Amino acid sequence: MGIFKKFGFGLKKTREGMTQRIEDVLGAYEEITDDFYDDLEEALIMGDVGMQTAGDIVAELKKRVAKNEVRNPKHAKMIISDIIADMIDGGEDMGLITIPSIILVIGVNGVGKTTTIGKLAAMYKKQGKKVILGAADTFRAAAIEQLEVWADRAGVELVKHKEGSDPAAVVYDTISAGISRDCDIIICDTAGRLHNKKYLMDELKKIYKVVEKQLPYADREILLVLDATTGQNAVSQAKEFMNVAEVTGIALTKLDGTARGGVVLTIKNELKLPVKFIGVGEQIDDLQPFKPKLFAKALFEDTGVTFADEED
Ligand code: GDP
Ligand code: MG
Repeated sequence: MGIFKKFGFGLKKTREGMTQRIEDVLGAYEEITDDFYDDLEEALIMGDVGMQTAGDIVAELKKRVAKNEVRNPKHAKMIISDIIADMIDGGEDMGLITIPSIILVIGVNGVGKTTTIGKLAAMYKKQGKKVILGAADTFRAAAIEQLEVWADRAGVELVKHKEGSDPAAVVYDTISAGISRDCDIIICDTAGRLHNKKYLMDELKKIYKVVEKQLPYADREILLVLDATTGQNAVSQAKEFMNVAEVTGIALTKLDGTARGGVVLTIKNELKLPVKFIGVGEQIDDLQPFKPKLFAKALFEDTGVTFADEED
């Protein structure tokens, strides 16, 4: 499946929810009025865009409508798509050039960290890079086993310690192994227990110290994983994590299972964080580097992908 089809496929539910609501508003008015703008703003909020961002989009639309002397509400569709594309553009590429580079993956339990790491490992391996994983979510034995399964699936190496061991020590050993085995990319899982903020902060601080000491000049990304199905709650979660970690980007998972894709807009517009990857399924190749223009386009265009196409 081509990248546009995959994107379109992952956004199917968001298109059926948010986009459909927007199109209903566009179709319900003969001309652009204040009521039209109010209804549009409501449709955006219902689509999990968030109040502030919905207001920002409508304000920008008013400007562009006036500038281009648009009268027909249907013509506003392309403008809205452009506004969204501009809003979410920038910073989406991973800044990993040094060898090795390191990615720390953080986020609360169940959002899809381990799965995303497995998908990332497979993606980088496919690009010819040597990847090593560190099982630094030592809180539960199952978490370590699960990452091992993904390491096998992706065909990459893994460093692990026993359940309950010090996560920073796992990171230390993973970096050491990564350096001695000439790895390009080191990816570490973490436990991310947000309900104990002091503990999480201390744990992350300790991990940073290890990275700082062992890889002072290496490029690093701190990828916060958020579950799109939680909508605006994912945004509050991100705010909490931004208080304890220098988040460099977001991996937004489970877009395939939700109509709440509008949350992408809030993340970029309100948190000023770039979405770098989107998860569109549970399989190893169900991770897409985020492409803002493609995303905005796919929101408003049915790419006609069906399950039959998927099996091709
Ligand atoms: P963690 O606790 O943050 O490490 O989360 P896991 O990686 O264990 O994932 C939790 C659940 O979410 C698993 O059942 C995954 O299969 C599922 N999951 C992760 N990413 C996606 C995605 O993009 N789409 C769907 N549909 N499910 C996902
Ligand atoms: Mg996990």
